[in-house]
Amino acid sequence: VRYYLSNIQTKAHLNAFVEVYGPSALARAAWVDEKLASGKAGKLAGMVIGIKDVLCYAGHESNASSKILQGYEAQFTTTAIQRLIDEDAIIIGRLNCDEFGMGSSNENSAHGKVLNALDESRVPGGSSGGSAVAVQANLCTVALGTDTGGSVRQPAAFTGVIGSKPTYSRVSRWGLIAYASSFDTIGVFSRTIRDNALVMEIMAGHDEFDSTSSRKPVLPYSQLLHFEKRAKVAYLKESIESPILQPEIKANTLSVLDKLKEEGHIVEEVEFPLLEYILPTYYILTTAEASSNLSRFDGVKYGYRSPNAHNLESMYKKTRSEGFGDEVKRRIMLGTFVLSASYYDAYFTKAQKVRRLIKDFTENLLNDFDYIIMPTTPSTAFKFGEHSEDPVAMYLEDLFTVQASVSGVPAISIPNGQDKEGMPIGLQVMANSFKEAELYAFSNYLV
Ligand code: GLN
Repeated sequence: VRYYLSNIQTKAHLNAFVEVYGPSALARAAWVDEKLASGKAGKLAGMVIGIKDVLCYAGHESNASSKILQGYEAQFTTTAIQRLIDEDAIIIGRLNCDEFGMGSSNENSAHGKVLNALDESRVPGGSSGGSAVAVQANLCTVALGTDTGGSVRQPAAFTGVIGSKPTYSRVSRWGLIAYASSFDTIGVFSRTIRDNALVMEIMAGHDEFDSTSSRKPVLPYSQLLHFEKRAKVAYLKESIESPILQPEIKANTLSVLDKLKEEGHIVEEVEFPLLEYILPTYYILTTAEASSNLSRFDGVKYGYRSPNAHNLESMYKKTRSEGFGDEVKRRIMLGTFVLSASYYDAYFTKAQKVRRLIKDFTENLLNDFDYIIMPTTPSTAFKFGEHSEDPVAMYLEDLFTVQASVSGVPAISIPNGQDKEGMPIGLQVMANSFKEAELYAFSNYLV
């Protein structure tokens, strides 16, 4: 803990942590030490973990990196965090992110931007940018993020660490401040597959506080990392031929596929004509869900209340106008529009139907093949400001991560070399729902 606290101090300018629980982490470390000495320590004894600022932790502030939640103190602890604490993990602090998880560069945060530790003129990715940089810069062992459309995998790729997203419903969402409830998952950043698998297996499993959480038994992923079978791998023609894919990322992805072939695995190219519809489907459905989820922030119950209001109506309006950032407002407006009576069928209902097609295609493909391999991102970490004036260019950064989110299947990003400027490249692997054990074992083989 002392080691990490000193790193956090020297790397404070990266702006990854928005709050450090220094004294309580040190006290807990001493207590875990005693448990270790008596041989009664939990599976995560001494693991130092940072948490994204959208996960509630009782008695601590949680802002979702938004001004509207300034001063909001959580009344209860996220189930996933509680399970880590119960295994003697040490929670070291709260990590910066894009406001309510909306963004791909961590530039939309009320706490300010997070810098990529490899090149401080570049973004760390988003929305879990603080979590990615915390692991990248050695500020904690493992960090929790949330992945609604790529927010763990994309920043993991941009910072050169491992980032996973479980099957939707595998990890309870209780305590996670909702962005898009039918997509939200809690994921893990780590330096090793084993740490990632271990933390995931402890967080996973049914929770009476989240009725959507799965009752399927959880396997001990971290003990099943040995991979010796012949894998059947698909890659999507449209992803590898995408005109926005950076050439070095294409080359590195193809070289992994070639190597797998040489090693005797089956690798096949598959056509996926729906690829271009995934991003619009994702942004219609997530903005719709967000506009509904975020209606609870009205100045009455949580955090910020405008001091400039003179009656109830203006209190709602001013609180929301002053409390939400531009990107969040854009999404609330988009979501309200696609849900409006005259456009509901044209946008929302249609997007739901397309979601079903994408999910069916993906699951069927993953019945025929064990894994889908894809680049995690079309480009490596870009410079600050490069996409901030153009929301569509920013949304395109999620092109390859949203398929797993729309389909609900688990996915992971692992480091796969670097581009000519030395920025890390991520390789994404997807498996069918609830195949986390297989996903981790194969990733362990690939790294
Ligand atoms: N960049 C995507 C978005 O802004 C993903 C966000 C996420 O996974 N939380 O919606």
